[in-house]
Amino acid sequence: MTREARVRISPLGGVGEVGKNSTLVELAEEMLIVDAGVKFPETELHGVDLVVCDYSYIADRLDSLVGIVFTHGHEDHIGGLPYLIMQLDPHDPIPIYGTPLTLGLISVKLKEHGLLGRVIQYAIRDGQRSRLGPFEIEPIAVNHSIPDAVGLVIRTPAGVLFHTGDFKFDPTPVEGRTTDNERLRQLGDEGVLALLSDCVRVEQPGWTASELGVREALEQLIGLAPGRVLVTTFASNIGRLREVVRSAHKLGRKTSIVGRSMEENLRVARDLGFMNVPEGSLVDLRDLNDLPPEKVVLLSTGSQGEPTSVLSRIARGDHPLVKIQPNDTVIFSASPVPGNEESVARSIDNLFRRGARVIYQMIDPRVHVSGHASREELKHLLDLVRPKYLVPLHGEHRMLWLFRELAAECGIPRENVFLTEIGDVVAFGEAGAQREEPISSGSVLVDGLTIGEVTNVVLRDRRRLAADGVVFVSVTLDRETGELLSGPDFVSRGFLQLSSEETDGLFEEARERVCEALEGDERRQPDVNYLVGKVRDTLNSFVYERTRRRPMILPRITEV
Ligand SMILES: [Zn+2]
Ligand SMILES: [Zn+2]
Repeated sequence: MTREARVRISPLGGVGEVGKNSTLVELAEEMLIVDAGVKFPETELHGVDLVVCDYSYIADRLDSLVGIVFTHGHEDHIGGLPYLIMQLDPHDPIPIYGTPLTLGLISVKLKEHGLLGRVIQYAIRDGQRSRLGPFEIEPIAVNHSIPDAVGLVIRTPAGVLFHTGDFKFDPTPVEGRTTDNERLRQLGDEGVLALLSDCVRVEQPGWTASELGVREALEQLIGLAPGRVLVTTFASNIGRLREVVRSAHKLGRKTSIVGRSMEENLRVARDLGFMNVPEGSLVDLRDLNDLPPEKVVLLSTGSQGEPTSVLSRIARGDHPLVKIQPNDTVIFSASPVPGNEESVARSIDNLFRRGARVIYQMIDPRVHVSGHASREELKHLLDLVRPKYLVPLHGEHRMLWLFRELAAECGIPRENVFLTEIGDVVAFGEAGAQREEPISSGSVLVDGLTIGEVTNVVLRDRRRLAADGVVFVSVTLDRETGELLSGPDFVSRGFLQLSSEETDGLFEEARERVCEALEGDERRQPDVNYLVGKVRDTLNSFVYERTRRRPMILPRITEV
């Protein structure tokens, strides 16, 4: 008798958070990964550019990896691939699977990192099945805020899984591709053991509004604008980019893209036929100067207020080519990702300050719709697929929790819904489902070009520097006798107002404390490490006592 086949599901990211979606599917000794995304850090992670999943579990069993399948080309699903590869030892090329647009966007990323040779790409299409080791995958068309998005049927000897990817049921999409209701219903008839589903908008009642409304709003707003129009959205929101270019063209305006990532995505989408815009509707930024303002639309990134983005630079007045002019209209065709509200608000303020009229979702809700399913759509999904078990993915913990309640309303017993944390393992088979030992998992911080070198110690230092500043203290001692030859001298940054009377007094007293601390050690050979520690401790407690602040204290002791 053969042992009963069991398929194990483990979220490596994307649960208890919004971002870095990545799910591990294991069967016996073989594994498959669905998506490998990035997350953009909250402001508490000073100087950290990106957060990606910890793939050490994969690195330890690389020979068992049959492939990585991608559902769509958004950053929170593909952006982590270069860092996944960097976490692995040199290896044979890894098979990756995705629809043509998804692979096109992935290639741009891998090329930037010089990693194109580390993968072999296989294009997948709706309805075509591919075999990856013990898994058979079949993509099903879903509608989302990027073209060419799919959900994945994963057939295994233990049963059928369906991973939704990101989706909504927009009945009137502008690009004509709806979520394949019929195929989902057939899948439900076939019998789905476990549904792994996006639930990030479960808090939202009803149905998500149609993209058609955004088209109408954009046309109306661009039509009414007295001068130039600048539209900002996600660089990967290909459908929205196309709508802006088309609306502008219809109204007799030319569009220009400002910003490399958006240009790059547009080029890929165009080459692959996902960006059918009228001839001559797009022009180079430099050629715009010859056109009157009312004939111009600019498209740029920066809808999240990212400080280095094109729009933030324009808002601060330090973009070399684009300056805000009177009569400019700026449209935020995006909503802030949770955590970015503050920086988006700063950008909007700065744009108003420079004289632009700014239209954003709070004052005109029509300028953006979400790409994700609201409550009624999630119910509709459950009605179609009728899974035995449910694993909510792609959401903060409260969203996973709310999806379980919603599923219970739809007749799925609560004990058949598994709420997970990163690294949890749920095993499914004919005999039932149960939790197993969690696997090694977590987050890896990417800082500029280094990966995983930003530790908690580094972060703590950055937090402290940002909050309380730094004090340098330098002392020169006689190498033989330990006698104080010069100093202590103080230099501080970000601590107290420089050269105020208060600061002078404080440092004068600090000088005495340091001298006292060093005195006890005179007339014997000084141990520099010991003295550095002693000076630091003395100043730490003195400064805290006087100011209730804890600047970073950096003593420098020189022996001559
Ligand atoms: Zn997405
Ligand atoms: Zn997503």
